Amino acid sequence: MRYQESQERRELRRAVAGLASRYGRSYFQAKARSGEKTDELWTEAGKLGYLGVNLPEEYGGGGGGLGDLAAVCEELAAAGCPLLLMVVSPAICGTIIARYGTDEQRKRWLPGLADGSAKMVFAITEPDAGSNSHRITTTARRDGDDWLVTGQKVFISGVDEAQAVLVVARTENARTGRLQPALFVVPTGAAGLTAQLIQMDLLSPEKQFTMFLDDVRLPGDALVGDADAALQQLFAGLNPERIMAASFSCGTARYALHRAVEYAKGRSVFKVPIGAHQAIAHPLADSAINLEMARLMTQKAAALYDAGEDLAAGEAANMAKYAAAEAACDAADRAVQTHGGNGITQEYGMAGLLVATRAGRIAPVSREMILNFVAMHSLGLPKSY
Ligand SMILES: Cc1cc2nc3c(=O)[nH]c(=O)nc-3n(C[C@H](O)[C@H](O)[C@H](O)COP(=O)(O)OP(=O)(O)OC[C@H]3O[C@@H](n4cnc5c(N)ncnc54)[C@H](O)[C@@H]3O)c2cc1C
Repeated sequence: MRYQESQERRELRRAVAGLASRYGRSYFQAKARSGEKTDELWTEAGKLGYLGVNLPEEYGGGGGGLGDLAAVCEELAAAGCPLLLMVVSPAICGTIIARYGTDEQRKRWLPGLADGSAKMVFAITEPDAGSNSHRITTTARRDGDDWLVTGQKVFISGVDEAQAVLVVARTENARTGRLQPALFVVPTGAAGLTAQLIQMDLLSPEKQFTMFLDDVRLPGDALVGDADAALQQLFAGLNPERIMAASFSCGTARYALHRAVEYAKGRSVFKVPIGAHQAIAHPLADSAINLEMARLMTQKAAALYDAGEDLAAGEAANMAKYAAAEAACDAADRAVQTHGGNGITQEYGMAGLLVATRAGRIAPVSREMILNFVAMHSLGLPKSY
């Protein structure tokens, strides 16, 4: 067991940090406040191979693992300019298509997802189902060779900037007649698909949408993989999602903590820097410890996933996502407190981190649902939901 990442991974981190430092927080905030996207950073990161580092080489990717993609995500966030769509486009959609897509689907989508010229977002959440994804009602039914998809999704990130959405719907099992989940690539321009912006109190260039699918007609080959094995395919995408969400939170926590420490060193009110007071120093030290534990857990989850140990990766990914979200929320709160009044000024730009890190406790899976999972699967307690 190695307790340090490979030389190659560390070099990747350094290179991504170098790129991100040329953009930095002011770039991210200016874009988010003006309603623009971080297109320049996304495009440059794509050209340099960072966005597709996990995707197969034969389709233009870097041939690396999810651990590499998670490292890219963390370093961007640590520099103050996280790219939320990395969690969905190359991580969930890229992984599912690489593992389960047809040759045609791989050729069509992977090169663009790898170099960032195409984005695919992911839609599972529904207004009435919420965390209980077994209750989703978006349905795909056969019409000749085509599919007709009808339903409603909510909180879907990035619909406005993606070419397609990977939609989780239900189809009827031909043998048993029971409804089962299936995955469809739905072009964002498809007739019958409309998206409505949700006004969020979240400072982010990426937006969330309610998506309506009204008899959206799709060709037969819009179905990804095998309709009868869709649950397995879905899980193949959800572990990467959790690992990426964890790395996103770890990076944001690093950014918050760094800003807090810098401020605590430079600000003096009672003759000494405020960081000399344990009331300021100890919470930050505690955050550093929690953050390091969350990073280790995230790296473990990615290593298990990359080793093909999906079951063990599932438990580790949930734990990592929980630990990272908690560490990030605490780090952001403490960073704001360290800044005093400046913590809630636009000039210092710290308060936005409170909502951004808080979102990590809710999405892509809430802390309560992770605790349910751990109680049941790790501890063997009765199922509570
Ligand atoms: C910024 C953001 C981006 C998002 N992007 C996407 C996206 O791109 N694609 C997508 O599909 N979805 C996306 N989501 C949706 C996200 O995955 C859901 O918000 C999340 O899964 C929780 O579902 P919900 O909001 O319906 O909460 P609910 O399921 O209504 O839950 C509300 C509260 O009740 C708790 N709760 C519910 N059931 C239980 C139980 N059995 N035991 C204990 N507590 C319980 C929850 O933990 C939560 O605290 C996004 C959400 C946000 C905030």
